[in-house]
Amino acid sequence: MLSTKIVCTIGPASDTSEVLEDLAEAGMNVARLNFSHGTHTSHKKIIKQIHELNQSRKFPIAIMLDTQGPEIRTGNEKSALKSKEIVTVSCPPFKENEGNIHVNYPALKSDLKPGNYISLDSGLVKLKVIGKHKKGLKCEVIDGGIVNGHRHVNLPGTVVKLPGITKNDKRDILFGIKHKVNFIALSFVRNSETIKEVRKLLGKHAEHTEIIAKVENLEGVERLEEIVKEADGVMVARGDLGIEVELEEVPQIQRRIAFLCAKYGKRSIVATHMLESMIEHPVPTRAEVTDVANAIFEESDAIMLSGETSIGNYPVRSVETLKRIAKHTEIFPGVNFSKNLIMEKNGQHLAASAIQIASDLKIRAAVVITRNGRGARYLSNLRPHGIIIYSFTENADVLTSNVLYRGVYPFLLKLKKNPEDNIQDALKMLKDTRNFNSNEQVIVLANILTGEGFNTSLQVRTIPSD
Ligand code: PEP
Repeated sequence: MLSTKIVCTIGPASDTSEVLEDLAEAGMNVARLNFSHGTHTSHKKIIKQIHELNQSRKFPIAIMLDTQGPEIRTGNEKSALKSKEIVTVSCPPFKENEGNIHVNYPALKSDLKPGNYISLDSGLVKLKVIGKHKKGLKCEVIDGGIVNGHRHVNLPGTVVKLPGITKNDKRDILFGIKHKVNFIALSFVRNSETIKEVRKLLGKHAEHTEIIAKVENLEGVERLEEIVKEADGVMVARGDLGIEVELEEVPQIQRRIAFLCAKYGKRSIVATHMLESMIEHPVPTRAEVTDVANAIFEESDAIMLSGETSIGNYPVRSVETLKRIAKHTEIFPGVNFSKNLIMEKNGQHLAASAIQIASDLKIRAAVVITRNGRGARYLSNLRPHGIIIYSFTENADVLTSNVLYRGVYPFLLKLKKNPEDNIQDALKMLKDTRNFNSNEQVIVLANILTGEGFNTSLQVRTIPSD
């Protein structure tokens, strides 16, 4: 079993029940729905298909709703821009035929100054501000190209005056709560306040829905530590990040995110361009294979595919390729950033002892019986090498969010009053479904009943014989 989890973005290349099933068989753990595209109706259809698919699966596919976030875009016009040309970029309120390019950000003229850059169409076209104009900004085209209508605009290094989450995002998140998504990936997170706001929105009705902060601009990078502390996990959103900061900054930011997530016991996801060439070709480049392997050496919880599975020609093969790379790479030890894990809770100390004992005794499985998923998280936080964590819970929401955690495979178990019965049931379930030998040792973290009530215990147990 793989420790690294695979997130697949679902789109026209993968939104049928047949392809979803093939992706799941190939190794998808989490299906990501990108709310920058599609409608509530189209997303609802995919969610329904995944819930149906989960009825017949041993381990469920979790659903991640990725918000559009506070985006800036060009107007409807199409412009052909030549390098070195001087153009005007206008901002609202627009007048007919005013300026070469319209950008829907009202504070564009006041926020930018000469020397700043504007990136259009996900970084393909680049403009440099050279002066102000009564209708907006005067710019020199640095990298020319065709800009179609409604294209993505980035303002690298500019502190924008946009809300953390938009009204549209709030509507989408409420839709997600209603349809029981497991993760909210928040686009363009710039501080911890936005995460707190979303957690409030999730409230009691979605207490097991986890928040993944997408770090994709300089402000997010500058406040990384506060974001990591507040979120349940962080996504290295390298697509926008590589436009908003200098490209050569991206690898060390990725590494810092891996380090901080390991330190604070949070999930980390490396995203974008992992197997980009597989959108068109059946095999990846050697550099892409190494990039995926490096994310695994960094002990990320998950690696994510975007265009490869949403619009690519080889969605299933892309997942199979990730799995092959992960399987081979996981043989080797990773960076071991979890040695810096801050261990505040007794449960975390107990989990660390469990992993230490398992490694000493060459035990390959940890069993945790958990009501709220915390025990599984504590074990996963240690990024144990060569040890798979089987979590047993009776809460279906906990079960599904556990699938993103590195090394964790969750089972649904109806918990009984007597804690020993739960351990026996879990061991039997493992024997029946996971190819364990009778009498093989496993490490168990579970409640036992003591004179003081329930207490978590750490035990070395054996898989029962027939
Ligand atoms: C990214 O920018 O890398 C990313 C994952 O975000 P999106 O696909 O929403 O642009």
